[in-house]
Amino acid sequence: MAITSCPSCSKPISDKAKQCQHCNLNFGDASAEDIQRKANFEKYKNLQKLQNQSMMAIVLFLIGAYFTFLGDFENSDSGMMMFNASVAVTTIGFIWYGVNRARIALAKRK
Ligand SMILES: [Zn+2]
Repeated sequence: MAITSCPSCSKPISDKAKQCQHCNLNFGDASAEDIQRKANFEKYKNLQKLQNQSMMAIVLFLIGAYFTFLGDFENSDSGMMMFNASVAVTTIGFIWYGVNRARIALAKRK
């Protein structure tokens, strides 16, 4: 018999337990160990997803910054609109990245 932690309340329980004695979470047919493994996998998948989103946010930010600073807006009629769009994309990328970093930090702390 080994000790694992409850996927719901994180308190130590037996890996053969069918139910958590602390929060009464019922594991059904799966053992606590199975549930824990599944929870870890879900957490890992979630972190991967957030990290991918962070990468996308960085790319968005770089594309926006590139056009904001290097775009040739002077010679076109829609220059001002293009400039505003570039600034918007840069800002969205920046905020999105910040949000993702916060979500990753939160997900890791759990
Ligand atoms: Zn529990």
